[in-house]
Amino acid sequence: MSDISVEKRLSPLIILSLVALLVLVLGLWTYDRMERGPSATAQGQTDAIDQQVYKWKMVTTWPKNFPGLGSAAENFAKFVGEMSNGRLQVHVYGAGELVPPFEVFDAVSQGVADAGHGAAYYWKGKVPASVFFTAIPFGMTAQEMNGWFHYGGGEALWRELYEPFNLVPFSGGSTGVQMAGWFNKELNSPADLKGLKMRIPGLAGEVFTRAGGSSVRIAGGELYTSLETGVIDAAEWVGPFNDLTLGLHQVAKYYYYPGWHEPGAMLEVIVNKTSLERLPADLQAIVKIAARAANQDMLDEFTARNNAALKELEEVHGVELRRLPDSVLEALAVASEEVIGELVATDPMAKKIYDSFSRFYGNVRAYHQISERAYINAREAVEGHLPDHQSP
Ligand code: CA
Repeated sequence: MSDISVEKRLSPLIILSLVALLVLVLGLWTYDRMERGPSATAQGQTDAIDQQVYKWKMVTTWPKNFPGLGSAAENFAKFVGEMSNGRLQVHVYGAGELVPPFEVFDAVSQGVADAGHGAAYYWKGKVPASVFFTAIPFGMTAQEMNGWFHYGGGEALWRELYEPFNLVPFSGGSTGVQMAGWFNKELNSPADLKGLKMRIPGLAGEVFTRAGGSSVRIAGGELYTSLETGVIDAAEWVGPFNDLTLGLHQVAKYYYYPGWHEPGAMLEVIVNKTSLERLPADLQAIVKIAARAANQDMLDEFTARNNAALKELEEVHGVELRRLPDSVLEALAVASEEVIGELVATDPMAKKIYDSFSRFYGNVRAYHQISERAYINAREAVEGHLPDHQSP
């Protein structure tokens, strides 16, 4: 009883003391803030920046909400919004909504849009050396391209290439090894390429022409109709996951592999340099990281979805899978060597990029012979014991 009465007498004193202490601490903190002045505090500056909301327009070469390729643009916008807590908002426009697909580069360069998503080799006519930043025939895989880009000097060269256009490029998607494409006749020898009109962009288009065919540049949204109406005889797009979405199996019979022309196509996020530099440093960092995340995310999604899509193409839609004969691959490789050689001989920037690209390629290829390739060969040699629950 006596303890309780002591507690009852003490507790108001304890509460009063705590309140007094709190008032003192708050008073000292307020005094300190007033002494230093609000404009002198770094915290005050950050608070002021935090309130500013930036709104960007992003134009793309893909139809709106197009799975796979288009998802990368949407993901970029989503990642930026989430990481910046809504301080940078990116509105994505599909091909043709704000500008036509092949005007993305100019639109971002001129500031009609702040950012764009597409593939660097679409701008080959304006910037010939851009092809190295998507894919060149018989070039590097996605893993190798990412290595060159982020650790082998690729990014700095790409920035230098786009600098005159007031553009800053970032890697914005990786498809992995593509398929060689859709054909309505079989390719048994290099002679079968003669006269074939194919949608195949980039340097590979020139190679295809050199090997006897003719190449046409057509945006994804128009591919189906072009193949259906006979504007073209053949088309490459990406791989099973994306091609199934476009419905190309409805207008072509044979599905050829491997994608000699795009072994590790890298897509791009391009940003108007003025728009980028207008952002505070943290938002600039978010743009960079969001692009890199979207780049890797695409490779992950294609890796996860390609085989199921291929099975559906073959088993449900009756698509006939074919491997390009060695003789055709050889003819295309010879033509590639010539076309790349001519580009490098006539364009100093292409030469500079090619030197970096080919040095890195030689180096990474040597190691991958005893790592990636050796492992894939090794696991196929013991396939009966693999934990994959299906035969290839
Ligand atoms: Ca392609």
